[in-house]
Amino acid sequence: MPFDAIVVGTGFGGTIAAVQLVAQGKKVLLLERGTFWRSFDPIALNKGDPFGDWTAQNNMPVQYWPRPDHRKGLHDFLAALRNLHKEGLYQYSLFHQADVLTASGVGGGSLIYSNVTIRPKDGALQRIGLNLGDAEYAAARLWMEGPHGDRKSANRGWLNYVVTKIPMGKDMTEQDFVQFGVDPNDPTKDTDGSYILLDRSRVLRAAARDVSTKLGVKMDWAPLELSIFEYDAHRGADSDSVPAHTHCERQGRCMLGCLPQARHTLNKTLFKKVLQHPGVTLIPKAKVLQLEQKPGGYDVIFEDDFTGQGTRREFAPAVFLAGGVLGTTEILLRSAREKRLPLSAALGSKFSTNGDFGAFAYKTTNHADGRPLPVYSTRGPINTSHVTMNFNGRFIKIEDCAIPAMFAEFVSKGLELMDDAGASPNFFNLIQAAWQSNLLENVVGLPDTRDPKSFQTEAEMLADTFFFNVMSQDDATGKLTLGGIDGNQIDLGWEQPVAQQTLWQDIETLLREFSSAMGGRYLALPGWQGLLGNKKLVITHPLGGCPIGGTHENGVIDEFGQVFDASQAADSKAVLNGLYVVDGSAIPGALAANPSLTIAAQALKSVTHALAP
Ligand SMILES: Cc1cc2nc3c(=O)[nH]c(=O)nc-3n(C[C@H](O)[C@H](O)[C@H](O)COP(=O)(O)OP(=O)(O)OC[C@H]3O[C@@H](n4cnc5c(N)ncnc54)[C@H](O)[C@@H]3O)c2cc1C
Ligand code: SF4
Repeated sequence: MPFDAIVVGTGFGGTIAAVQLVAQGKKVLLLERGTFWRSFDPIALNKGDPFGDWTAQNNMPVQYWPRPDHRKGLHDFLAALRNLHKEGLYQYSLFHQADVLTASGVGGGSLIYSNVTIRPKDGALQRIGLNLGDAEYAAARLWMEGPHGDRKSANRGWLNYVVTKIPMGKDMTEQDFVQFGVDPNDPTKDTDGSYILLDRSRVLRAAARDVSTKLGVKMDWAPLELSIFEYDAHRGADSDSVPAHTHCERQGRCMLGCLPQARHTLNKTLFKKVLQHPGVTLIPKAKVLQLEQKPGGYDVIFEDDFTGQGTRREFAPAVFLAGGVLGTTEILLRSAREKRLPLSAALGSKFSTNGDFGAFAYKTTNHADGRPLPVYSTRGPINTSHVTMNFNGRFIKIEDCAIPAMFAEFVSKGLELMDDAGASPNFFNLIQAAWQSNLLENVVGLPDTRDPKSFQTEAEMLADTFFFNVMSQDDATGKLTLGGIDGNQIDLGWEQPVAQQTLWQDIETLLREFSSAMGGRYLALPGWQGLLGNKKLVITHPLGGCPIGGTHENGVIDEFGQVFDASQAADSKAVLNGLYVVDGSAIPGALAANPSLTIAAQALKSVTHALAP
């Protein structure tokens, strides 16, 4: 079947492109390297499962999330690592100075993201020259939130606050709210004394107040907007894709598959709006290698593990690249090296860490006023609230972060070891600490009846551990190139060690203050402590690689995602007709915020421009 367009990748950018193309009646081929991932939910299945029926009828590869909420789930999680298994869900890419975590599957990053759907500060957009404003973000919110997107109305869309221990549903009376110490018009305005806020949200808010006063820096705490269904008794069976019973149960495992399916993942959107359309073909397990310019369009060259046809080509007059920062940049780097496309020398540049930084406050104790400050990190959505500030001239955002129960024992033991090993742990004193702490006995042995800790539940193991999830503004000086053993895989590097950027010192200064306000000790991630060599970052929000620019001298694409034709003069704005980049690789620097809404806004802008009459 001749296609009007080929979409590479099915994450945020890819789903937006596919939905818009299908809405205009285009014939579309979707190529996705991963498989379907679903939650095994017997209740939903008993109610009928059209999505499951469709995947079965079309012989689609489907895998299920790790199920157990206890420590044995760690084994299932490791089995889903793409590094160990080509069809895995989590792609953990190891580079010299930083590791990058991304997803592989129908729905892309939405499968493993923690649902945070927020707009960055305007100043952050201006700093990187990203031309997105109210209109673009309103369109993106509508797209993400669905047609019932009024949070205050009975017909709420996907965006909700989840900062309370139980849903503050619409069927609760005003008296119920008041009894819980919550302002009925704004559940975020309770007092620290109220027990209704999730502990992590409350602890972060209390710490922000203390640190703000101490440092004299304005810090705003607020609940995060999450693409999660909250309980709403007035909600009828009007939902776009899920039955009405589905709502958040605060299981704290969003990135590991939501059992009640309360999360907005794009496989649901694709099923509802794209895949059942007769003009659409999806080939999963199809890894795109490169593109080649042909008269009137492009050949997309890919490995087809779905039908087993090996390496093959499909042609279309338009191609929308949405393989994510690493995927899209790798495809274009290969295409440029083989001289199949005339691409800008800026390809691979402006890689940004988005200022991603993770660390712990360990053994949190009491609030300054003496009240206990339990954190209970296993409970509630992965991120619930955030503190934003301008610190030393940069935006910094600190979010609370859950630690799923299945990681509880591993994390609590690891932190105990790092803490025991002292201020500058290395690999050898960690081993020594492990020996001294009877780690093996604790993991494989019977409970020690003399030690109450042997009987701890996963929630108790992390009751006094707070996990910080930070984003900020780096200099976007990372460079993506082709490397690896065969010189054909994506590689990431910096001319100056990225760990030396002053940004990280500022972040650590703040996190030390927050840890101390929580009565805990600051502990960085093991990679940042240099346990296995040089200091390493872990990046979950990579950006850039195919940055927007004015011409091909300083960018790979224009502001509408059109790829510059680098065979033209340096100041030319000529583009390769029909070739678009519509994912996070387009964003030319740090956002200091979770990026999916911005990626969606930019992708919508590009696809709307591409489809304009
Ligand atoms: C643990 C975690 C939590 C996160 N939480 C949040 C959050 O709460 N809020 C937020 O805003 N952001 C979050 N993010 C970041 C967010 O997931 C990404 O920014 C977003 O998914 C990027 O969208 P994208 O369209 O650029 O690419 P992706 O969503 O990564 O999609 C790329 C798709 O292309 C496919 N692909 C790649 N290469 C190829 C190839 N060669 N051939 C075929 N297919 C290919 C991939 O399998 C994938 O499906 C999180 C990320 C992680 C890792
Ligand atoms: S906290 Fe649990 S129920 Fe709520 S969205 Fe996350 S995984 Fe689903």
